[in-house]
Amino acid sequence: MFDLTPDQIAIKDGVAAVCQRFGDDYWASCDRDERFPREFHRAMAENGWLGVTLPEAHGGAGLGITEAALVMHTVAAHGALTAASSIHINMFGPHPVVVHGTPEQKAQWLPRLARGEDQVCFGVTEPDAGLDTTSIKTFARKVAGGYQVSGRKLWTSTAQVANKILLLTRTAPKSASSKSTDGITLFYTDLDRNRIEVRRIPKHGRAAVDSNAVFIDDLFVPDAHRIGDEGQGFRYLVDGLNPERILIAVEAIGIGEDALRRAANYARERIVFDRAIGMNQSIQHPLAECWAQLQAAWLLALRAAALYDAGKPCGAEANAAKLLGARAGHQAALQAVMTHGGMGYAKEYHVERLLREVLIARIAPVSEQMILSYIAERVLDLPKSY
Ligand SMILES: Cc1cc2nc3c(=O)[nH]c(=O)nc-3n(C[C@H](O)[C@H](O)[C@H](O)COP(=O)(O)OP(=O)(O)OC[C@H]3O[C@@H](n4cnc5c(N)ncnc54)[C@H](O)[C@@H]3O)c2cc1C
Repeated sequence: MFDLTPDQIAIKDGVAAVCQRFGDDYWASCDRDERFPREFHRAMAENGWLGVTLPEAHGGAGLGITEAALVMHTVAAHGALTAASSIHINMFGPHPVVVHGTPEQKAQWLPRLARGEDQVCFGVTEPDAGLDTTSIKTFARKVAGGYQVSGRKLWTSTAQVANKILLLTRTAPKSASSKSTDGITLFYTDLDRNRIEVRRIPKHGRAAVDSNAVFIDDLFVPDAHRIGDEGQGFRYLVDGLNPERILIAVEAIGIGEDALRRAANYARERIVFDRAIGMNQSIQHPLAECWAQLQAAWLLALRAAALYDAGKPCGAEANAAKLLGARAGHQAALQAVMTHGGMGYAKEYHVERLLREVLIARIAPVSEQMILSYIAERVLDLPKSY
C-alpha cells in the first residue's frame, strides 16, 4: 500500500498544525541561543503527540512505528532536527520499558513521558567503546536493594534538560561473560545531578538540543529501576534499534524536503543575467535528482516501518533506509545551500542550519560503515569484517 489512510493523513495534518505555530525565527533563535525548544515540546505534549507509540493503557495512542514516522517526518520538515531531536526519544526510547517493564514501572513512568512531565535521555555511547557497544565500561555493582553505578557516557543528548536516564551498564565484565552481549543491564532511573555531572559538548549544529559528556560517580540505582532481567539489557536495546533507524531516516528526509522546497522557491525568484536562476538546467537537475532520491528513501523507510509494525524482520530495510534517507537529506540540504549561492551561507535563509543539522543523521545513531557491514553480512552473506 503506497497511500496513507485517512487516519494517517489526519496525523500528519494534526502534527503540522502544531508545528506551524513555530516558524523559522523560533528555530533560528533556539539554535543561536543554544536553548532547548521547551515551548514546542510542551505544545506537542499538550496535543498528545509525545505518546504516539506508548500503550493506550498508559496514556499513549498505541500506534505503530509507521505513525511515529509520519509524526517525525512532519516535525523535521518544519523544525529540522532541533524540533525532531527534542521529542525523538519518546517515539522509541521507552520501548524496553513497554515490552520488558513490570506493570508498576509502566504505570509509574509511561504516563509521565506521554504528558511531557518527564524527559528521558539515552546513555549508551561511551568514550572508550564507540560503536563497539558491548565494550562499554560503565559498571553497575550489585549491593543490597540495588546497584552502585559508576562510569562515563558520551554524546548523551538532552541530558541538560532530562530528569530521567535510560542507562546501559555492565553488571559483569565482558571478559567474564560467555557471550559479549551478556552481562549488560539496562536501567531507567533518575538523573541525579548530585551523582551525575553533565558537560555540554560544543558542536557543529543542533545547538538547541544539547549533547553531553556524562560522568557517573557512585550513583545508587534501586532494583526497581532495572528493566527486565539482569544481564539481558543488550537484547532489550537491540529491539529498539530498527525503529530508531527508521525514525532518523524519515527525519533526514523531512529536512531534505524542506531544503528542497526552499531551494526551488529561491531558484524561481532569484534573477541573475536577467533570468531566474531556476531556468538553468544546472540548477534544476541537481534539485530534481534530490527529489528522486528523497522519494526512494521515503518508500524504503515506510516499507521498513510496515514490516516492523507487522512483526516481521526489518533489519536490512531499516538500515538501508537510514543510510539512504540520511544521504538524500544531506545532499538536498547541501544542494539547497549551493542553489542559494552566497546567501546559502547566510543564516537569514536557514538552509545552512538545515545542512548543519542533517549531517547528524549520517553519523548517529549508527555510522554508514556499520550499516554497510550489516547489509554485507546479513543480506549478502559475506564474512564478518570486524
Ligand atoms: C549529535 C549527536 C548526538 C548523539 N546523541 C547520542 C545519545 O543521545 N545517546 C548516545 O548514547 N549516543 C549518542 N550519540 C553518539 C552516536 O551514536 C555515536 O557517535 C555513533 O554511534 C558513532 O560512534 P562513535 O562516535 O564512538 O564512533 P567510533 O566508534 O569512534 O567510530 C569512528 C568511525 O570509525 C568507523 N569504524 C569503527 N569501526 C569500524 C569498522 N570495524 N569498520 C569500518 N568502520 C569502522 C565508524 O563507522 C566511524 O565512522 C550522538 C552523536 C552525535 C554526533
